[in-house]
Amino acid sequence: MSLMPRLDELHVHDPHNSEVHAKQDPPGQDFGSRVELALGATNHLFNARNSPRYVAQVLQGVTAVATKLERTTRPFTGVGPSEMKARVGAVDLDTPLPDTAAALQELETVYLRDAIYFHDAKYAAHLNCPVVIPALVGEAILSAVNSSLDTWDQSAGATMIERRLIDWAAERLHLGDNADGIFTSGGSQSNLQALLIARNHAVAGLRREPAQSGLRLPALLDTLRIFTSEDSHFSIQKSASMLGLGFDAVITVPCTPDHRMDPAALAEAMASARDAGLTPMAVVATAGTTDFGAVDPLAELAALARAYRAWFHIDAAYGGGLMVSGRYRHLLDGTRLADSVTVDFHKTFFQPVSSSALLVRESAMLRHITYYADYLNPESAALADIPNQVDKSIQTTRRFDALKLWLTLRIMGADAIGALFDEAIDLAARVGSLLAADDDFELAAAPQLSTLVFRYRPVVDGVRLPEDTADVLNPAIRAAVFASGEAVVAGTKVGGRHYLKFTLLNAEATLEDIAEIIGLLRRTGADLLQSEVSA
Ligand SMILES: *Cc1c(COP(=O)(O)O)cnc(C)c1O
Repeated sequence: MSLMPRLDELHVHDPHNSEVHAKQDPPGQDFGSRVELALGATNHLFNARNSPRYVAQVLQGVTAVATKLERTTRPFTGVGPSEMKARVGAVDLDTPLPDTAAALQELETVYLRDAIYFHDAKYAAHLNCPVVIPALVGEAILSAVNSSLDTWDQSAGATMIERRLIDWAAERLHLGDNADGIFTSGGSQSNLQALLIARNHAVAGLRREPAQSGLRLPALLDTLRIFTSEDSHFSIQKSASMLGLGFDAVITVPCTPDHRMDPAALAEAMASARDAGLTPMAVVATAGTTDFGAVDPLAELAALARAYRAWFHIDAAYGGGLMVSGRYRHLLDGTRLADSVTVDFHKTFFQPVSSSALLVRESAMLRHITYYADYLNPESAALADIPNQVDKSIQTTRRFDALKLWLTLRIMGADAIGALFDEAIDLAARVGSLLAADDDFELAAAPQLSTLVFRYRPVVDGVRLPEDTADVLNPAIRAAVFASGEAVVAGTKVGGRHYLKFTLLNAEATLEDIAEIIGLLRRTGADLLQSEVSA
């Protein structure tokens, strides 16, 4: 029996919500505002008068989620997009429901029942984490107070908390005394901002040539090149495109068989770019690639970047959590050599979306994105040392995501976060042994962080399933398992071939849980092969 109160028991009667107010209209108000007030619109405002309503309604929402958690036995229901579209489409958005309870009941059918649940041990697909409760407390507070981190006069202490956490992360990454940074919406935005700074830094260098000193920025972009591994994140290419360099300004460097960037190949690529009159703008290393969890050889890549005076960025969107790891922290040692680092707290720090940061070694480099707007952050404010975070951000209005990490560190502590990630890494190693010993599956590479890339390729009638058949079969297995809702796994391609992928971030998932997913994949694959043969 659940200890949680049932949703309908918690239902708080709310006379102001549905009833029309018999309120006297103040004289002289126009018709529109009278109608609005008559409908009790101000009863929905978050303010002192409505604080009991705030508590009751939020509690109803929280209880709905908690009840859902207790009753959910698998990560997904398997619902398809057309059914969800019909259900969501049937809602009349111009006719509000009588109260919060009714809206939550409706939400059950348009969202909660069929959501993808990352806390379930059989969710093993993408880099989504089960979230920690202290961060959810932070989420509730930050959205209610609704500070905006663009300026001091919209945030006050929130700005100091964000700055303190940036300093904390920079110290853990050994970025030195001049480090600085900013919270962002995610790894893609952090990477974009890093490359924006790198681009403007490179352009400033090009302008030191007298012949180029008067040129506008677009005229100087043509020769800039970014070097990154073939396994790096696609946001590098997208950033290059958004920065006016074009997708093809990214030179893809091959990896060694362990999926880490090959320093010899980088040296070659940079030398031939230089010979062709091109400008090596940046080297982007990855600390934890999305598919293989590979950490590039950071020190060797840093030395090459320095030799060519290129910006050295480390995309640690996935591997960033290693900074609090008890056992694997050494994998991030090379960050001390970076010009900038991307960290996604909403991946390996178990924070709700969104929470990410860009850290830079030299705070002065952030000037490359500063723009002073008279109405918001005039230069006079900067000169008076008023801390306006918009000076460092590509966003203006910005969430106080830092509060989630703050409360996580204050309630759980950094070591506990690191232990959660360590647990996932250890589980991946054990699953790796399991798959390596299983003749029905092929492991593409030994696990490095908490991912496993593998495919179902059994021996049928004494013959290993042909690769072309495996290429059709594995995506079909993934789709069938997703439609069953019993487990969620990812897919990827390696060398043009289709593979399945586990991303493990749930410290409560056991080897048995993952073995059950493997069993499900095997049964589904065998069934699909069987129906193929009998068809
Ligand atoms: C997830 C990821 C990103 C993108 O981060 P978002 O938060 O999804 O924008 C970038 N780089 C790597 C290596 C990633 O794993």
